[in-house]
Amino acid sequence: MNKDIWVYIEQTEGETAGVSWELLGEARRLKAAMKEPGQIAAVLIGFQLESLIPKVQEYGADKIFVADDPCLKFFHPQLYAEVLTNLIQKEDPHILLVGATVQGSQVAAAVGAKVKTGVAAHAVSLRIEENDRLVAVVPAFGGKVLGDILIPNTRPQIASIKPGIFRKPEKMKINSQFFNIDLSFLAEIKTGLKPLGVIREEPRGVPLEEAEIIVCGGWGIGDKVTWNYLEILAEKLGGAVACTRPPIDEGWAPGEHVMIGTSGKTVRPKIYLGFGVSGATHHICGMKDAELIISVNKDEQAEIFKVSDLGIVGDVKEILPLLVQAVNSGKGTGD
Ligand SMILES: Cc1cc2nc3c(=O)[nH]c(=O)nc-3n(C[C@H](O)[C@H](O)[C@H](O)COP(=O)(O)OP(=O)(O)OC[C@H]3O[C@@H](n4cnc5c(N)ncnc54)[C@H](O)[C@@H]3O)c2cc1C
Repeated sequence: MNKDIWVYIEQTEGETAGVSWELLGEARRLKAAMKEPGQIAAVLIGFQLESLIPKVQEYGADKIFVADDPCLKFFHPQLYAEVLTNLIQKEDPHILLVGATVQGSQVAAAVGAKVKTGVAAHAVSLRIEENDRLVAVVPAFGGKVLGDILIPNTRPQIASIKPGIFRKPEKMKINSQFFNIDLSFLAEIKTGLKPLGVIREEPRGVPLEEAEIIVCGGWGIGDKVTWNYLEILAEKLGGAVACTRPPIDEGWAPGEHVMIGTSGKTVRPKIYLGFGVSGATHHICGMKDAELIISVNKDEQAEIFKVSDLGIVGDVKEILPLLVQAVNSGKGTGD
């Protein structure tokens, strides 16, 4: 039986998503845990992909399947899923790992439905059990319960994993085998969707996943004026701004791409500074591995204090302007 572990390499106009490398590293760990391991294969779909191939090799793919065609230039959920499905039906891999990103989640769900197999979505850890079977651990009820998801009777066993859960592996030298996928079947596919291009939002400041310092605001921030202090503080400290769910709903925070938690990102900064964050499980599960957690909350019973190394009971509306003033002057607040 083919025991290959596949990783979907997510790319947009030649720029790869970091989660792809994290998954290649995890695939190597899973392979080592298998009794009868197969090979690790990377699947690259897009157009003009040559420059990405050496990178995929560096992160340890034994095999690289390449689907390179002008009609795959922009991410097209239907065509990308068709390509992957077609390849799976020919090669019959054991496991498929996909990033739980906007792109990856669409691909995983569509492929799972087409090949009639299961998808363990938003897994937070993976392990290999008896008969080299994959177990994907998926949180439920806001992270209060962790469930083991198994796909015992169908192949491949598909799991989507959020960026940041696994560490990016060390680079290695490997002689990968290449396979160009025959895409002649694509001409037959009728689709009502025509992607016209990609509009990129210019990232502001340090990306959340790479930031050593994260300044996170919760609902306790209270208004846009106080939120602006949070942004200034993050910038002055050379860190990134993050948030819980409510500041997005209130329109203070720039968007979901800076949200931490079960539906947001998982981060491991050196310092996490939380302002007006209550400490709901949905949020905690995305930041609990920060090296140092400092929180400000006016409620001394707030749950966030239970995971904090340093807790300050106080009003963020008073503390944030003082902190900005102190950072601006290069001195402590004196309080
Ligand atoms: C399926 C699902 C997925 C979810 N995913 C996520 C997720 O990924 N990330 C996420 O963050 N949330 C998520 N949520 C929402 C989550 O459950 C909580 O509602 C949210 O994290 C609470 O955000 P908060 O701490 O900012 O707000 P609240 O819980 O309302 O807490 C506000 C805190 O601010 C304090 N406060 C108020 N005023 C001040 C002040 N002036 N000074 C100091 N402190 C003050 C209060 O004491 C309180 O502790 C999800 C919910 C669901 C149902």
